[in-house]
Amino acid sequence: MGTTSRSTAQNQAADLDAADSLRPHLDRFVTGGDVQAYLDGNSLGRPLRVTAERMRAFVDEAWGTRLIRGWDEGWFDLPLRLGDRIGAVTLGAAAGQTVVADSTTVLLYKLIRAALALRPGRTEIVVDRGNFPTDRYLAEGIAAETGATLRWIDPDHDAGVTVDLLAPVLGDQTALVLLSHVAYRSGHLLDAAAITDAAHAHGALVLLDVCHSAGALPIHLDKWGVDLAVGCTYKYLNGGPGSPAFAYVAHRHLADITQPIWGWMGAAASFEMGQGYVAAQGVRRLLSGTPPVVAMQPMIDMLDLIDEAGVDAIREKSTALTGFAIALVDERLTDHGVTVATPRDPDRRGGHVTIDHPESQHITARLWEQGIIPDFRRPSGIRLGLSPLSTSFTDVVTGVEAIVAELEKPA
Ligand SMILES: *Cc1c(COP(=O)(O)O)cnc(C)c1O
Repeated sequence: MGTTSRSTAQNQAADLDAADSLRPHLDRFVTGGDVQAYLDGNSLGRPLRVTAERMRAFVDEAWGTRLIRGWDEGWFDLPLRLGDRIGAVTLGAAAGQTVVADSTTVLLYKLIRAALALRPGRTEIVVDRGNFPTDRYLAEGIAAETGATLRWIDPDHDAGVTVDLLAPVLGDQTALVLLSHVAYRSGHLLDAAAITDAAHAHGALVLLDVCHSAGALPIHLDKWGVDLAVGCTYKYLNGGPGSPAFAYVAHRHLADITQPIWGWMGAAASFEMGQGYVAAQGVRRLLSGTPPVVAMQPMIDMLDLIDEAGVDAIREKSTALTGFAIALVDERLTDHGVTVATPRDPDRRGGHVTIDHPESQHITARLWEQGIIPDFRRPSGIRLGLSPLSTSFTDVVTGVEAIVAELEKPA
């Protein structure tokens, strides 16, 4: 057993919370019920208190009294305006390249197909086995549909997906490299700039899934030269369950990009309702049907808060939270057979920490009963998601100590 006792850890956490410049923001989130510590903000971010007022006003004022006129008064362009806001606040993307629509799954489908069409004659998609299931399944489905070949890579346990791992599978047949910026399970953070350079050296495109990084750490899509990106808004952007996703297309591809779901909302003149599809200019052409305007409302508040707090300060708190969690797990849980799956180098990890123990599924279920809420990830992982603006250092201690208590229970 390490030298840190429960009460020492609690004191350390209290000091860290007191020194945390982002701490006042904790009070801006809805709390209550039986929740003692929410450690899954990377799966579903908490709502902000102001969001309840925004939704009420939307029903009473926008939807309730502007009615169908709302489409002319802002809703029609909301996917683009909100996309620009996400791009500016979280993606390092200049205006005109980001749009909000669909789900991550559907936008990934559109962009993988778009990438193949941008690289005619090339037949290979590089994808890694540590990627989120929907990303892998889509790649399989598109391979079945188009005849493309998947080149699988296995992420390194310690380093994740690296340029060295990619080198053997890149070639003159590579159309696309599809990777997650932060791995959903291990928390590995890619060197997106280096990987983009490596792919470009072979003439391939990069599609970066930023579901687990947008809102949690600095992203510079324009600067890194990333071609395409997709992310979801219900994780670190707190858009609420099922809030729509966003897609980014670098300016240089906008004139040529095509996507396979041709609908009226992505057409050049939606309300002329004419014969024959002509794609809209710009990133609007990624849209298909009527945008989910209601579901776009909550994320507006979180984008304002992220903008106010600043992504660099958010990342600083995030690495402090994950570092604190790893140190505490080392001290309190190593002797119970728990191992850390997430990189110890703060520059190589995202905003969550995954620990492994054979009893993880059972422990997670017991924690949920107590209102302590991490999540379980197969085969044996407990994921501690430490959304920086809504998680305290004390929450980390509450979570880790609850795991200690479960493992110290007599069998
Ligand atoms: C959460 C997540 C998704 C989710 O896709 P949905 O279409 O919203 O269900 C996809 N990819 C990654 C990497 C994720 O973390």
